[in-house]
Amino acid sequence: MTPPPSPSTATRAFLARPHALYIGGRWVAPLAGRRFDVFDPGTGERIATAAAGDAADIDAAVAAARAAFTGPWSKFTAGERSRVIWKLADLIEQHAAELIELEVLDNGQPLAVAQHVVRNLAPEFFRYYAGWPTKIEGATIPAAPQGRRPGEVLSFTLREPIGVVGAITPWNAPLPMLMVKLAPALATGCTLVLKPAELTPLTALRMAELCSEAGVPDGVVNVVTGFGETAGAALAAHPGVDKIAFTGSTEVGRLIVKAATGNLKKVSLELGGKSPVIVFDDAVLEQVIPGAARACFFLQGQNCMAGTRLYVHEKVHDQVVEGIATIARSMQLGHGLDPASQFGPLISAEQRERVRGYVEAGRREGGELVCGGSAPARPGWFFQPTVFARMSADMTPVKNEIFGPVLCVQSFGDDDLERVAREANATIYGLSGSVWTRDIGRALGMVRRIDSGQVSVNMHAAVDPAMPFGGNRQSGWGREFGKEGLEPYLKTKGVSVAW
Ligand code: ADP
Repeated sequence: MTPPPSPSTATRAFLARPHALYIGGRWVAPLAGRRFDVFDPGTGERIATAAAGDAADIDAAVAAARAAFTGPWSKFTAGERSRVIWKLADLIEQHAAELIELEVLDNGQPLAVAQHVVRNLAPEFFRYYAGWPTKIEGATIPAAPQGRRPGEVLSFTLREPIGVVGAITPWNAPLPMLMVKLAPALATGCTLVLKPAELTPLTALRMAELCSEAGVPDGVVNVVTGFGETAGAALAAHPGVDKIAFTGSTEVGRLIVKAATGNLKKVSLELGGKSPVIVFDDAVLEQVIPGAARACFFLQGQNCMAGTRLYVHEKVHDQVVEGIATIARSMQLGHGLDPASQFGPLISAEQRERVRGYVEAGRREGGELVCGGSAPARPGWFFQPTVFARMSADMTPVKNEIFGPVLCVQSFGDDDLERVAREANATIYGLSGSVWTRDIGRALGMVRRIDSGQVSVNMHAAVDPAMPFGGNRQSGWGREFGKEGLEPYLKTKGVSVAW
């Protein structure tokens, strides 16, 4: 097996640095002096070490964020914040080659995915939010408090930044997850303490430097790398934090909510998913087959929006299943830096064992394994894209979020629409979903019935900076992206002036 292409000199130099914490605009060593290793999931080898911050470092970062919030950042005009965010987008483009390599090495994703994220999604996202600071407005209110008559009182609302934000992000898409919290926080005038996932801390560290280069004042963006149970838990519980923006598992989301009760800080959550993909017999199969394969296998299925439950009309079932299996079998597994690879590794050996456990359960419970189902013999934490047919609602891999490349297919007939709609909603999650048909009535009828934060027709996971994104039920609280994505970072003050 040929070794993966070697990263650029700039990337190698960055990896070799003894990474510290970024607090108050300076690189500082973690107070307890602890460090942890960062691995390349494509080889299983150690590529860097990072600082393991804990509660005392979080204290320092929150203090820096508070000082910046009440100090220099509060003096920025809306237009000045816009320009800083726009400049950050420019810098991401300028340093794209390095960010792409870091994201691939940290997370394992194929080059094409990281290229899209760094060259398109991230600059577009920051530029979208760069437009907002000058458009965040309150309202004048026709209020008549305490018997005042018109002309005797003026009532209006102020939209103010919520304050110091703790952002806790996962490893499955490190840069996008950071971006969706950083951009609205900067746009609204908040400051942040960012705790990236311990498995993927690298791009967050590089982004801290780019923020500074873009003109973000010291202390506005602080990065404390470290573990969830220590640094993350300290941030979630911190009395000096006004809001937690969290993306991760539903299980940890619950811990965050509990930790936040001390000072009743605001919490927004983007959690797990188990999204349905519903294919009618009139759908355009040339689009359905690659679309459904991508819906499940994108990011090796380590994607909260992954379309992991496929419901196909019985008339086209065999053709769709065989088409997806053909794609799955032909996907080239490989290290993300190899431009030929289409499918990367899972994030860790532990994650691979979890996925393997779900596949074993699927087999045991009577699912028909159409393709995949095991780990190829090669370095790195790879697992084959896997398709199970003849699944049913009560099977373990159908009920649980696997966060791996495992598609569970079920079929339905003309009389089963009620059942499909019911089963589509029969998990604790409600994040995403898609409906594939040429019949607009059928499409919209099913869209109305799926209880998810976003549902697409003839496409899956239609992500755009302007489009609100978030989950219903146990998939989350609140929305990110778009205008709604500003709301969790703002508070409203009602002001009445009598004269
Ligand atoms: P995943 O399973 O996708 O890794 P997690 O929900 O475990 O997702 O982790 C997402 C983020 O939450 C990571 O940054 C992790 O360090 C952090 N985290 C894990 N446990 C806690 C906790 N108890 N309190 C706060 N943050 C945590």
